[in-house]
Amino acid sequence: ASGYTLLRDPRHNKGLAFTEYERDAHYLRGLLPPALMTQELQEKKLMHNLRQYEVPLQRYMAMMDLQERNERLFYKLLIDNVEELLPVVYTPTVGEACQKYGSIFRRPQGLYISLKEKGKILEVLKNWPERNIQVIVVTDGERILGLGDLGCQGMGIPVGKLSLYTALGGLRPSACLPVTIDVGTNNEKLLNDEFYIGLRQRRATGQEYAELLEEFMTAVKKNYGEKVLVQFEDFANHNAFDLLEKYSPTHLVFNDDIQGTASVVLAGLLAALKLVGGALADHKFLFLGAGEAGTGIAELIALELSKQTKAPLEETRKKIWLVDSKGLIVSSRKESLQHFKKPWAHDHEPVKGLLDAVKAIKPTVLIGSSGVGKTFTKEVVEAMASINEKPLILALSNPTSQSECTAEEAYTWSKGRAIFASGSPFDPVEYNSEVFVPGQANNAYIFPGFGLGLIMSGAIRVHDDMLLAACKYHGLLSYILHAHLPPQ
Ligand code: NAP
Ligand code: MN
Repeated sequence: ASGYTLLRDPRHNKGLAFTEYERDAHYLRGLLPPALMTQELQEKKLMHNLRQYEVPLQRYMAMMDLQERNERLFYKLLIDNVEELLPVVYTPTVGEACQKYGSIFRRPQGLYISLKEKGKILEVLKNWPERNIQVIVVTDGERILGLGDLGCQGMGIPVGKLSLYTALGGLRPSACLPVTIDVGTNNEKLLNDEFYIGLRQRRATGQEYAELLEEFMTAVKKNYGEKVLVQFEDFANHNAFDLLEKYSPTHLVFNDDIQGTASVVLAGLLAALKLVGGALADHKFLFLGAGEAGTGIAELIALELSKQTKAPLEETRKKIWLVDSKGLIVSSRKESLQHFKKPWAHDHEPVKGLLDAVKAIKPTVLIGSSGVGKTFTKEVVEAMASINEKPLILALSNPTSQSECTAEEAYTWSKGRAIFASGSPFDPVEYNSEVFVPGQANNAYIFPGFGLGLIMSGAIRVHDDMLLAACKYHGLLSYILHAHLPPQ
C-alpha cells in the first residue's frame, strides 16, 4: 500500500508519530511535515485543543474526527482521560449528538440495516471490512436515552457503547460492530427534516418488524458463529423484553438497559449498605418508572434478596414498589398491565403521584427510571429525608436534561444526608462548607467488563447468576459510591 493510503487508514495511521525509519519503509517521505511528535505529545496537544471548545458537541465532533483519523490515539486519549472524556463520547453529549446526527454525520461508523436490506442482511454483514467480530451493539433507535424515538440517528449509541468496550473492556476496536436497524421512525420532526439520514416512513411493527430482526439474528450467528455477543441497546420496551426472551435461548444476547442497568444498580446498592447500614433485606424500594431499567433492576434485587434470605421470589418482590405514568402499580390494575409489570402489582389502594407514593410506601431507597427530568421535586426529596436518616436516591435517567434531580438538589434538599448517584455525571457539590461527590450509576460501569467476561470465557448464553456475580466481583463497581465513604 502507498504511504498516502496509510495516512488515510485510521487503524494504522500515526500522523507525526511515524518514525524516520517508518517514513522510509512506508513511502511516507514528503507526505508529512518534518517534525516527529510522539503519541504522548500528540495527546497533550489534542487534550489542549479539546479543552478550548466551549460547546460539548464540538468536543464530540473533534473526538469522532480523531477516531476516523487515528484510532490508536483516540483510544489512548479516552483511556488516559476517561473521567473527562466519558461525558463527551457517552452520556450526556452523545444524546445531543444523536439528536443532531443528520447534520454532523460525515462517515458511517457502523452498519445500517434498514427494511430496504430485507432478504440481503447476510450480504450486508459481508460488506463490513472486518471478519472477526466479537461484540455487536445494536439499536433500532426507538428509545434513545430518555430522548425518545430518534430513528436511524440512534447510531451514536452503539458507536459510543463500543468505544467503551475498547477503552474500558480492552476489546480490539476491529472486533466491535455497531449496528442500527432502521424500520422507520415515528418522530414527526425527523420525518419532516430534509437532513434526516434514515428511512422516511413510520415504524414497521408486528410481523414485518419481527421478520427483519429474525433475519438479522440468524445472519449474525451464521456469519460470526455461536460466540458473538449481541448487546441490545435502547429498544423501546414493547420490543426489548420480547427480543430478549426470544433470543436468550438460542443466542449470546444481553440487554444492557434491562440487565446491565440492573447489575450496576444492585452493585451500587450493595456498596451503599456500607454507608446506610443494615442488610439488603432491611430496605424498601420505590421506583419511578416501570420499564426496562425499572423492572430489570427490581427483578435482580428480588433475586438477590431471595438468594440471601431463602425466601421465594414472590415474597421478596413485595419489598419493591413501582410507579408508572398512571401511578403506583397495584393489584387492582393487574388486568390492564403489560406483562413485565404484573409481578409488581401488590395489594394496596391506588395512589396517583410520586409524592403520595413515597408517603404511603415509606421507601428507604428511591430510584428514578422514567426518562422524565425534574420529577424528584423538593417535596419528594424532603419526604425521603423525613423518613430516612440517610435516604438513598438514584436518579438514573439520561441524559442530564432528563435526570430526576441534580446532585445539588439531592444534597441541599436533604440537608446533606442523601446518598446520591445519577445516570449522567454531576460535578461535586459544596453544601454547608462540605464537599459532596456524587456517584455515577450507569451501565457503562458494567457492560464492558461483563461483555469481556462473556467473550473470554467462551460463554454461549447469558444467565442471571452471571449478572449477580458481575455486581459482586467487578472491580470498578465500588467506584460508584466510594465517594460517599466518610473521610479517613
Ligand atoms: P422505558 O422502558 O420506556 O420505561 C419508562 C417508564 O417510565 C415506563 O414505565 C413509563 O410509564 C414511566 N414513565 C414515563 N413517564 C412517566 C411519568 N411522567 N411519571 C411516571 N412514570 C413515567 O424506559 P427505560 O428503558 O426503562 O429507560 C428509562 C430511563 O432510564 C431513560 O432515561 C434511560 O436513559 C434511563 N436509563 C439509565 C440507565 C443507566 O445506566 N443509568 C440505563 C438504562 C436506562 P408507562 O409504562 O406507564 O408508560
Ligand atoms: Mn441504553
